[in-house]
Amino acid sequence: MPQNTPQPAPRGHLKVVVIGGGQAGLATGFYLRRAGLTPGEDFVILDSAAEPGGAWAHMWPTLRTFSPTQHSSLPGWMMPAWTGDNGYPPGAHVVDYLTRYEQRYQLAVQRPVRVRAVERDRGALVVRTDKGDWTADHVISATGTWSRPFVPTYPGPFAGQQAHTAQYRRAADFAGQRVLIVGGGNSAAQILAEVSTVADTTWVTQREPRFLPDDVDGRALFEIATARRRAHDTGTTSAGVAGLGDIVMVYSVRQARDRGVLHARRMFTGLDADGVHWADGSRLSVDAIIWCTGFRPALSHLTPLALRGTDGLIPTEETQALKEPRLHLVGYGDWTGPASATLIGVGRTARDLVKSLT
Ligand code: FAD
Repeated sequence: MPQNTPQPAPRGHLKVVVIGGGQAGLATGFYLRRAGLTPGEDFVILDSAAEPGGAWAHMWPTLRTFSPTQHSSLPGWMMPAWTGDNGYPPGAHVVDYLTRYEQRYQLAVQRPVRVRAVERDRGALVVRTDKGDWTADHVISATGTWSRPFVPTYPGPFAGQQAHTAQYRRAADFAGQRVLIVGGGNSAAQILAEVSTVADTTWVTQREPRFLPDDVDGRALFEIATARRRAHDTGTTSAGVAGLGDIVMVYSVRQARDRGVLHARRMFTGLDADGVHWADGSRLSVDAIIWCTGFRPALSHLTPLALRGTDGLIPTEETQALKEPRLHLVGYGDWTGPASATLIGVGRTARDLVKSLT
């Protein structure tokens, strides 16, 4: 649904500029409003996409969230229930929810506005965009990871078709082919589940895939992330909880298990023109490789601030950049807050972030 918010000219100075209007930006906007800040006057949310929904608007149509709606909700307003598919809604339901969420709380997201750079300008930060500049006391970056799909580098040429999760649309595109699916997370498991119904699939993962019990949903991932963080803060370990698993047994994945396709080989060591090979000399010919190998944080607009560590991330204390206290990061991954990159987890990170500003 197009956003009909009028696009005011950039104004002089705001308290807060939020970059990114996906779930992380919206949850932050919710708490900024609750703290008494007025959208458009005290803060603005800028989003480069033409439509609401963040990354959810680009995911493949049959994707199911890894938690039912009551565990996939942002602060303030619960995601409307989804009764099909054992309660796990598709991405389109999340897009609809996020669209209505920003309308409900009148967050007045400005789109499409692409932030090109954030720079220091005396006592403030200046946010340079394709629609002009904003300055602010605080900048909150919530640009997600979708625009930076990650594919690991392996030696050798491969002449067949390659796609990343971000490009995958439907199983029918691979019908009748020999398809290699790479990755041990929920995306890989769900894509394997459906591609295996129309193609000859092989699954490769770095380590043995870890499946959650059937009656445990993605809320457990939030609990795992919280336990890990607590363990990190107290110098203990959370191995017992982390050992629970990674992959949620949504309906399609359970069906794949029943068909006997959820078996993974370890990673190959190199690519050939028509397949892959392993260190022991074994080979596999495939027509296509689907890389379900994750994403990296979209942080290039922050390059002028020179904040990145050797791991490519920006070191933070909670959400606050260590070397630029006026900058906060929300979403992206557990490094900005436990489960900060999930629907259920980002609310807590956003709440604590806004509390630290006001
Ligand atoms: P995004 O949704 O990516 O939003 C970022 C926004 O920032 C976008 O609208 C983008 O247009 C904008 N932006 C980017 N760069 C700029 C810029 N320079 N200037 C202005 N705007 C910019 N989580 C769950 O809780 N449950 C699930 O079931 C689940 N399934 C997932 C399945 C997949 C395949 C993936 C990849 C992730 C899944 N996640 C899930 C994780 C997470 O909830 C999503 O990735 C979610 O989209 C993250 O929200 P976000 O707001 O951090 O980022």
